Amino acid sequence: MNPKYSYSFNTGDGKNKALLGGKGANLCEMTQLGLNVPPGFVITTQTCLTYLEHKRLPDDLMAEVRLQITEIEQSTGKTFGGATDPLLVSVRSGSAISMPGMMDTILNLGLNKQTLAGLIEVTDDPRFVYDAYRRFIQLFGKVALGIADEKFDMHFEAIKHNAGIKADVALNSDQLQEISELFLKVVQEETGRPFPEDVYEQLEISIQAVFNSWLGRRAVDYRREFHITPEIANGTAVNIVMMVFGNMGDDCATGVGFTRNPGTGVNEMYGEYLVNAQGEDVVAGIRTPKPVQEMAAEMPEQYRQLVALRNKLETHYHEVQDYEYTIERGVLYCLQTRNGKMNAAAMVKSSIDMVSEGLITKEQALLRINPEMLEQLLHPQLSPHHEHQPIAQGLPASPGAACGKCVFDADTAVRLGKTGADLILLREETKPEDIHGFFAAQGILTSRGGKTSHAAVVARGMGKACVAGAEDIKIDVRAHLAIVGDIHIKEGDLITIDGSNGNIYLGRIPTIPPSFSEELKTLLAWADSIASLRIYANVDTPETARLAVNYGAKGIGLCRTERMFNAADRLPLVIDMILAGNTMEREAALAKLFPIQRDDFQQLFEAMSPHPVTVRLLDPPMHEFLPNEHQLLEELDALKHYLTIAKGQRVTLDTLNYHGDLPAPFNQLSEEVIIEAIAKKELMLSKVLELYEVNPMLGHRGVRLGMSYPEIYKMQIRSILEAAARCIKQRTPIEPEIMVPQVITAQELKKVKLWVDEIRAEVEDQYRLKISFKFGTMIETVRACTRADYLAEIAHFFSFGTNDLTQATFSFSREDAENKFLPLYEESGLLQDNPFETLDVQGLGKLMKMAVELGRSQRPDLKIGICGEHGGHPRSIRFCHKLGLNYASCSAPRIPVARLAAAHAKLLEDKPL
Ligand code: PEP
Ligand code: MG
Repeated sequence: MNPKYSYSFNTGDGKNKALLGGKGANLCEMTQLGLNVPPGFVITTQTCLTYLEHKRLPDDLMAEVRLQITEIEQSTGKTFGGATDPLLVSVRSGSAISMPGMMDTILNLGLNKQTLAGLIEVTDDPRFVYDAYRRFIQLFGKVALGIADEKFDMHFEAIKHNAGIKADVALNSDQLQEISELFLKVVQEETGRPFPEDVYEQLEISIQAVFNSWLGRRAVDYRREFHITPEIANGTAVNIVMMVFGNMGDDCATGVGFTRNPGTGVNEMYGEYLVNAQGEDVVAGIRTPKPVQEMAAEMPEQYRQLVALRNKLETHYHEVQDYEYTIERGVLYCLQTRNGKMNAAAMVKSSIDMVSEGLITKEQALLRINPEMLEQLLHPQLSPHHEHQPIAQGLPASPGAACGKCVFDADTAVRLGKTGADLILLREETKPEDIHGFFAAQGILTSRGGKTSHAAVVARGMGKACVAGAEDIKIDVRAHLAIVGDIHIKEGDLITIDGSNGNIYLGRIPTIPPSFSEELKTLLAWADSIASLRIYANVDTPETARLAVNYGAKGIGLCRTERMFNAADRLPLVIDMILAGNTMEREAALAKLFPIQRDDFQQLFEAMSPHPVTVRLLDPPMHEFLPNEHQLLEELDALKHYLTIAKGQRVTLDTLNYHGDLPAPFNQLSEEVIIEAIAKKELMLSKVLELYEVNPMLGHRGVRLGMSYPEIYKMQIRSILEAAARCIKQRTPIEPEIMVPQVITAQELKKVKLWVDEIRAEVEDQYRLKISFKFGTMIETVRACTRADYLAEIAHFFSFGTNDLTQATFSFSREDAENKFLPLYEESGLLQDNPFETLDVQGLGKLMKMAVELGRSQRPDLKIGICGEHGGHPRSIRFCHKLGLNYASCSAPRIPVARLAAAHAKLLEDKPL
């Protein structure tokens, strides 16, 4: 056969995940490796795209599918649709990137009245067969025919209830047969047609349903959230695999496992299994499974096979695997394997371990971790000293602590999440359709299911705290209520969960900052030794500078001095400076600010010694330090009322001829004091009106302030240089850098540089020493990019301020864009990403490239960095590396992410972005 649309597991290329999907490629690879995989074939992702484009299956697809099925029939002796020993298959989705539970799967396909009888004959187990049948009808009904689960569940529960049965396994063959017949009726009623008897018709409808699930809401949401673009995964493959059964008796089982512990990374057997059950029972959390270690005693021979399988998977894939298996009548089958999704701590630990076990290289150890993950490690943990008693305990399914208001459904979580509330999503068990609730919540709590249940797997992948299977909590989703003993927890009540030990607490528990593990330190040290881009921090205070050093920052790339101005003890001085009527008054106010700023800078230099500290001269428009007009008008109004009352008081006293001391509160403020306050507020108001700008962010700010009020910039320059002189005097090694914001022309830089030179001479004279430092400019206007060669005549360094440069490139403001039209642009694909989060390589990237080339043409050793928000984002870091930048500066918690991303950038430099 020369297949066009499909490959059998014996022939498919196990490396071609783009064409066969991750699951399909792995099934091919495992089959060809000699692992015991049930026979099957993969219909390609390309076929899916063709189907979605033409809205129908290619004409000759089903003919090819028949040939593939014939091959399975020949190798197994079973017949698809046959009256004796019938072949049943599963129909599973699987795209290039694993999207657990986001698309559809149908099991037990091939059952109809005829095969049912045949299966009963070969198995001699009508209970098992009717159980398989009712599962098939419901799953096919839901996935392929769009019938809601409730329509089936209603009958299922009614029969259980009438028979007084709690657990599904207690249903007997007659009851399951009755359920199957009721389910067939549901299909007839809901669709107006009988359930399809022709097994190839069943297969054709199912293939289409799986293809369609690529465009289902869950899958689309998931791809958007995880930035899975068509280049990464396009369309889903369909895997058609012979069914093997874990529910044919007590020598059968089904289970899922990880080759290492995905919560901690420890190299041990990890997983759960259920005897006499089908795979979906484990994943859906309907029955709580047993830890795999118990299998050693219960099924020793199968456990030995399982250990061998696990070892073979890791040594072959050189990666932690998440695998599913079924034991049918004592024989172990591997049903699927994929790279295991683990939390950041487990990824780091397993990376270090696998290097020391000789399984992977250091470079592979770095590349297997998505840099974004590392931010999880900086999430707070519960304080070890808190004395709160847990109200219940579940399984520690995804580590980290989370505190938030309880919500009981995903839609409410999304709604409340938009108000900025921290939330914990409570469910009996979660399903793929709850995915939007996971995004909105800080933590997940379920009352059913194990450590490999849907909730646990998805939460771990997202790095969110999760406690699963807390069976002491009764969760009533309809009543929006959780009950533990006599405690009632309502929607909106605060709880804390600890995904590291499974504890659940009422109220908020204090948290402590996380600590860097030795493994993380080792990993990041490897990253630093490979990366060529250095990572600096955007920090403004000595405390955050020390934190940044702890996280591994090699300098400060941006100290926003205005943040120092905003501290409570400085703001009144800053306001005095702004209200000053002339230069002399302004200089007097600045003289008071000067020693404060000098001490700030000195502390910052000390905290970061010996690394560079880039101090940016004042940037924001001055009105940002003053109250707004509306507030001032309200305050003036209040003062004027107060004055009237004071006047009334005087008139009262005069009228009564009263001259004695007044009791409190009548003696408090005299009219003069109120008048003085009014005058001050009026002055402020007139200043606010004078400073009013239509477009303040494009107005009187940045270096333009320096041009208008040189005394402000001069005070800051002197503070920086004197702080430097003091450090030099006490032999603290430092590398100060003075940076000018919002520059558009070399003339502005020249002017500031002149002041710097003058003040430097004075300070050097005063302290009798030489100060070495760098003078540079931010590149955050389009003109600065186009005139970079001229700027580089004066500047020793450039720092791309990509926040402002993005606004300038797109000609829209971040606030307006993000609040109004940007979500629409992203959703409808007009823009692929939010350019304020992901650096716009195509547009803004070109400006940056021009600036780098022009700047270095003038000054080949020009130091260039980035200090906008993008400086902490892996993709932007890769781009900056490609441009040949020297450093990226980001906020302190992003530093580990950026360090790893810088190593990735180096290791992947020959690959397209
Ligand atoms: C920038 O514009 O990228 C920048 C770092 O400056 P700010 O965000 O302070 O305007
Ligand atoms: Mg800026």
